[in-house]
Amino acid sequence: MSDQEQQRVAMVIVAHPDDAEFGCAGTVAAWAREGWDVYYVIITDASGGGPDEATDVGPAARSAITATRKAEQRAAAAVLGLRDVIFLDKPDGVLEPTIELRRDLVRLMRRYQPTRVVCQSPERSWRPTMAIGRYHPDHMAAGVATLAAIYPACQNPWDFPELLGEGLPPHKVREIYIMGAPEQNYASDISATFDLKIAALAAHTSQVGSRMADLETRLRQWAAELGAQHGFAYAEIFHKTENG
Ligand SMILES: [Zn+2]
Repeated sequence: MSDQEQQRVAMVIVAHPDDAEFGCAGTVAAWAREGWDVYYVIITDASGGGPDEATDVGPAARSAITATRKAEQRAAAAVLGLRDVIFLDKPDGVLEPTIELRRDLVRLMRRYQPTRVVCQSPERSWRPTMAIGRYHPDHMAAGVATLAAIYPACQNPWDFPELLGEGLPPHKVREIYIMGAPEQNYASDISATFDLKIAALAAHTSQVGSRMADLETRLRQWAAELGAQHGFAYAEIFHKTENG
């Protein structure tokens, strides 16, 4: 398939609501403005994202958090101009890169046929120092599962043969953008969409409500530093690779 025949469809696959806002919201907002259909896939139910001082962490409290965080994620996606948000509702905090998860992701990628996929790093970066908050084990499990789903399973009819039976033929993802990777090689210009990134992040009220002003300051500084290295006012950074 030539480049011109590639569908302008992108899919962001992350463990939790707000992961994408921190890592790639400016980039996907820019893509959406260029006419790309962008989908978020949120793998977990986010039920572990309640207050640190909580003592009631039972099922009712968890399902209330899930409902809140889904609504926040949908609001953030609306700010960014995305097409839809898909929730896989795996239990939060205990995500594993199982074959079942790989199949779920292959199913979605074959259905929506993204040319670009954005995902989380399956590995920690140790430079300049390892940022432990960035490498939640769910994030790394999501990264492992997504990369395994892209290659070879999504493009190989012999993997998950039941999917052919569901009317989902193989699909080849062309471009992969990894957030938080140990080696970064691609800066995305978010100068025109940085404000949307901040507005989308602010939609996650339950997570960022009280610290949004501080977060905005830090994110602006970080995006400006990355941008300065690449000739942009603001940037997000990825490891980008092409699936030739
Ligand atoms: Zn997360």
